[in-house]
Amino acid sequence: MEAIIEYFENITSAHRSAILIGGLTIFFLIENTLPLFTNKYNKWKHSGLNIFFTITTILVNFLMAFILVGTSDWVVANEFGLLQITSDNVYFQLIVGLLALDLLGAWLPHWLAHHVKWIWQFHLIHHTDQHVDTTTANRHHPGESIVRFTFTTIAVLIVGAPMWLVFFYQSLSVVLTQFNHSNVKMPSWLDNPLSYIICTPNMHRVHHHYRQPYSDTNYGNIFSFWDRLFGTYIKVDNSKLIYGVDTYMNPNEAQNVGKLLKIPFAGYRKSIEYDNEEKL
Ligand SMILES: [Zn+2]
Repeated sequence: MEAIIEYFENITSAHRSAILIGGLTIFFLIENTLPLFTNKYNKWKHSGLNIFFTITTILVNFLMAFILVGTSDWVVANEFGLLQITSDNVYFQLIVGLLALDLLGAWLPHWLAHHVKWIWQFHLIHHTDQHVDTTTANRHHPGESIVRFTFTTIAVLIVGAPMWLVFFYQSLSVVLTQFNHSNVKMPSWLDNPLSYIICTPNMHRVHHHYRQPYSDTNYGNIFSFWDRLFGTYIKVDNSKLIYGVDTYMNPNEAQNVGKLLKIPFAGYRKSIEYDNEEKL
């Protein structure tokens, strides 16, 4: 445990990037070997677009990192926040801290992104992907990266998270989100029990179905508890899923960097009336 704290306390940007690239590479290789959907698409063009948005996500987080470090240093110095007033036990900090950061820094902003129109306009870019795979994980509009960063900072403040915990949480979050977006065929004997604790690919995929109400379910990032707790959990047959978002199904819009960047500033498109026959 000491070694983990020490490592994440002093983790360099190079190591953080290596975790992101390493995770992406591993899941990319696994989904190539054991894919769920084998429909042909230009994987390199698709990856290129998503890696562009991954780089903008990294840049936003890198440029604003000093705010996160400053907030964490401040909560520790002033003994502010949940973890600072309750216990010095590092195991307690690790478990409660990860749970609270995941809820406040990821699940909550994701839920809001689906219920607050202007945030949805940014979050749409993530959902326009019609071939969800591990590279979809960090396909975020820079505006959404700023919104997510803001929530992470507020979460650090409320939780009173020391920096080692913040970096550990972020590293885990990156790898888990790459995992649950991957197009890997997970055997149910492995996916089912895992999904009681973490968000697995079989659990998250329905969130990328092109129609509501299915896209408004399974918001989870690391832990699957929140969706079960707040009634947004759903389990469906993944073989019938159609990825994308009903209002942006035209590939000319959904696969064009310039057009995707402009979506939040274009007019709001109302989702198409749901037909009961489309039930999954
Ligand atoms: Zn979403």
